[in-house]
Amino acid sequence: MSKLKIAELFYSIQGEGRYMGVPSVFLRTFGCNFKCAGFGMPKGELSEEANNIDATKYNDYKMLPLVSTGCDSYASWDPRFKDLSPMLETDSIVDSIMEMLPHNRWMEEHLVITGGEPLLGWQRSYVDLLSNEKMKGLQELTFETNGTQSLQQDLKIYLQQWGINRSRGAITFSVSPKLSISGEKWEEAICPEIVYEYSQVGRTYLKFVVANRQDVEEAQEAVNQYRNRGFRGHVYLMPCGGVESLYNMNAKTVALEAMRLGWRFSDRLQVPLFKNEWGT
Ligand code: SF4
Repeated sequence: MSKLKIAELFYSIQGEGRYMGVPSVFLRTFGCNFKCAGFGMPKGELSEEANNIDATKYNDYKMLPLVSTGCDSYASWDPRFKDLSPMLETDSIVDSIMEMLPHNRWMEEHLVITGGEPLLGWQRSYVDLLSNEKMKGLQELTFETNGTQSLQQDLKIYLQQWGINRSRGAITFSVSPKLSISGEKWEEAICPEIVYEYSQVGRTYLKFVVANRQDVEEAQEAVNQYRNRGFRGHVYLMPCGGVESLYNMNAKTVALEAMRLGWRFSDRLQVPLFKNEWGT
């Protein structure tokens, strides 16, 4: 049986994108190919906030400080916190999921596999996880990804069949490509070929985290590249800000930009509802 290194496993309301408001189980895997230290910082500067946390003081993921700059799920990939994320067998993960579902079985809830970058290292294990008998009732599944990791053949074939056995649009790839606001490099972050590949397996949309007009112009350039490769899905703009003060500063500007371009606006409901705490 295969294993997954799990940073978080929790039940909440999906706060972003297509499934905003839907009760969801979140499976947050450990590991990411990016750092995204630019979020919330003046252009060109990188956050040191997470780096300044003394990892030796914490033995429980939920007790870690929240950050207002950089990646708000830093502990899901920073090697200094890796021991807070247990390696679990897929059967044991499924049992935990059943316990947290309100009816102890899948009803209307949806599963979000997120990260870190969930398609980085665990693709084989998802086949085991989803094949578990108790997961048969699951009808809708989202991968929240940064859009840089190709699908392995085994997973691709499995997901195509999984989707065929369910209603249209059962599988979603929520792709959040990293613009320069993240501090990551364009050539590593914008991968049209890979996003096109996802769109051949499940419903795929782009969700850009932006703060101002300049970020939106970059998003337009990226969308052009994705469209030129054949991507036909929806585009969302989502305000930068894992804390309310930053989020509130950006939200209206971003909503107006989404209206101007005829794109969708994504909220981040976990910020006003739960202050973006761990497990929300
Ligand atoms: S891709 Fe996502 S998880 Fe990875 S560093 Fe960036 S914001 Fe964090």
